[in-house]
Amino acid sequence: MSEKKVAIITGASRGIGKACAIELAKAGYDIAVTYAGNDEAANKTVSELKDIGVNAKAYKFDVASEEACCENVAKIHEEFGRIDVLVNNAGITRDGLFIRMNAENWNAVINTNLNSAFYMTNPVSKIMMKQREGAIINMSSIVGVMGNAGQANYSAAKAGLIGFTKSLAKELGSRNIRVNAIAPGFIQTDMTKDLDTEKIAEHIPMKKLGQPEDIAKAVKFLAVDGLYVTGQVLGVDGGLVV
Ligand code: NAP
Repeated sequence: MSEKKVAIITGASRGIGKACAIELAKAGYDIAVTYAGNDEAANKTVSELKDIGVNAKAYKFDVASEEACCENVAKIHEEFGRIDVLVNNAGITRDGLFIRMNAENWNAVINTNLNSAFYMTNPVSKIMMKQREGAIINMSSIVGVMGNAGQANYSAAKAGLIGFTKSLAKELGSRNIRVNAIAPGFIQTDMTKDLDTEKIAEHIPMKKLGQPEDIAKAVKFLAVDGLYVTGQVLGVDGGLVV
């Protein structure tokens, strides 16, 4: 069994998750990359991680399935030997005004963005409790803090992650397991590629969108350096929410 530290990052084939995987690999962590279906992107991420010099493997499963999460956490634990960091990052949007929002779009977003955190964290926290150490980072959003018209489902899921983070920090602190959230602002990834970036930038105090690496550096801080930080929601948003 490897004694190197191990991080699981959900939704690490692309975007913010991929940047987090690269940042933690640079800090020496072996990485379990999880993703939904984009094999090409996941394989590319794994090969970039291996080039950094760490062990990395991709696991394809739907984070909205409790059974799949439990099975894959067990597999990752068996194959990597330990789990030190969990980044609950995988997420989707199904935007639309609330009066036109159907239950399918509500449930898809709640299941993928919020219930997934329960499905992943439940088995991982048991492993971390035995290790008496661990760090869990939940990818929330500024809209979980301030709400957003057209994103009632997504805002509810992201706000739910904040309550989840604070409660779990209180339950797991005595076991040396820290639980924090990050609330990114507008970050340039596939998720935001159809937005009018120039118009959005005008409303951001720093007058620019963020990059996935900006979030990855915050994840690295919460995972590796912030050893007395738990239950916090770290805004990384160019000053949008102050
Ligand atoms: P992205 O570029 O769209 O990437 C999404 C990632 O999640 C991909 O790796 C995708 O896998 C995976 N994924 C999606 N649904 C999944 C499922 N059901 N099961 C397993 N994996 C799944 O998104 P992003 O912009 O990097 O966002 C990452 C996180 O940050 C999300 O939680 C998002 O809500 C949050 N966030 C983003 C922004 C922003 O401005 N971008 C702002 C605030 C918060 P495949 O590649 O296989 O599809």
